[in-house]
Amino acid sequence: MRAVLAPEALEAIVEVLRRRDWRVVAPTVRDKAIVYGEIASAAELPVGWKDVQAPGSYRLERRGDEARFGYAVGPQSWKRELLAPSVRLLQIERANGSFKVAKKAAETARTAFFGVRPCEVAAIKIQDRVLIGGPYADEDYLERRKNSFIIAVNCGEPAENCFCASMGTGPKAEDGYDLVLTEILDGSHRFLAEAGTDEGAELLAELPQQPAEEADTAAAEKVTDTARERMGITLDRSDVHELLLANLEHERYDDVAKRCLACTNCTLACPTCFCTTVDDANDLSGGAGERIREWDSCFTAQYSEMHGGGTRRSLQSRYRQWLIHKLATWNDQFDTQGCVGCGRCITWCPVGIDIREEVVAIRVTQEAKS
Ligand code: SF4
Ligand code: SF4
Repeated sequence: MRAVLAPEALEAIVEVLRRRDWRVVAPTVRDKAIVYGEIASAAELPVGWKDVQAPGSYRLERRGDEARFGYAVGPQSWKRELLAPSVRLLQIERANGSFKVAKKAAETARTAFFGVRPCEVAAIKIQDRVLIGGPYADEDYLERRKNSFIIAVNCGEPAENCFCASMGTGPKAEDGYDLVLTEILDGSHRFLAEAGTDEGAELLAELPQQPAEEADTAAAEKVTDTARERMGITLDRSDVHELLLANLEHERYDDVAKRCLACTNCTLACPTCFCTTVDDANDLSGGAGERIREWDSCFTAQYSEMHGGGTRRSLQSRYRQWLIHKLATWNDQFDTQGCVGCGRCITWCPVGIDIREEVVAIRVTQEAKS
């Protein structure tokens, strides 16, 4: 099912979802960045803003039009909603000389994700595979995922650090959404809307709309084709698995270790990274305790700590583990790639370390040798 929506119809999307008891989370401007937050009106979308990104750099600028989705991606990803930064797993109370252990019920608020980029849809599919696609499902993630509704928005404005086209994850979403919009700004501001599920079709049927003509479909195709052409530096993934595994001791890892601050920004901003840690805490009287799961990062020395010490003590080994996992061993482990090309790890790295450049540096010496 396909239709054309006027920009004002976005308000109807928010209204219909809220009337049906969906919490609507969407991009909005806060603290000079585009972040994801609960909205009560489509007026809270980043109307007329664009993001200007470079390695280690991000700023917002006015666009000079009324585009609702005229930017790429911000520092946050939908991982915040599905693999929550902090989850209480257990609560323990002492009563009458024994302990009562209560398992924390997962958050069940029905949440509509409004404005999910194609690379982010791909990231959600990857986390689905990792967290609920095996024999042991993460219960909290599963519950949140079952209670999610995805409105994707195809990309017309890639940032300098975007490389989803190289990773096969954008700029057009092929599946994994309930409804997908393409914003068309060719003199007549409108959206081409296409349902991906029955629930998406039900929502679309409730919106004020016009039938989609061939010209609208062609204009929408042009939006994503142009975005694909505008994407700058690429990442050649055709042989990256073999390349990285054949160069485990490459000198580039010593070089990157001199620049990396081990700040963990790249992993926290990444929509597919899933490292967590579990902490137990009790109150001072010993009468109650809890077990909390929180985001962690493989860039910290403590992350690999076991009895007898850590397995990745040097920064060189931690960067290597991250890069190779993202682009090579993730495929061996989960039969899917670990990177969707969103560029967040490049933009939000305070020293501008660029995953694409690191691969090129290894490739150049490999080619020189052969
Ligand atoms: S590794 Fe970097 S570019 Fe790839 S998905 Fe993560 S943040 Fe995005
Ligand atoms: S964001 Fe940059 S400096 Fe920080 S841990 Fe990642 S690569 Fe290192």
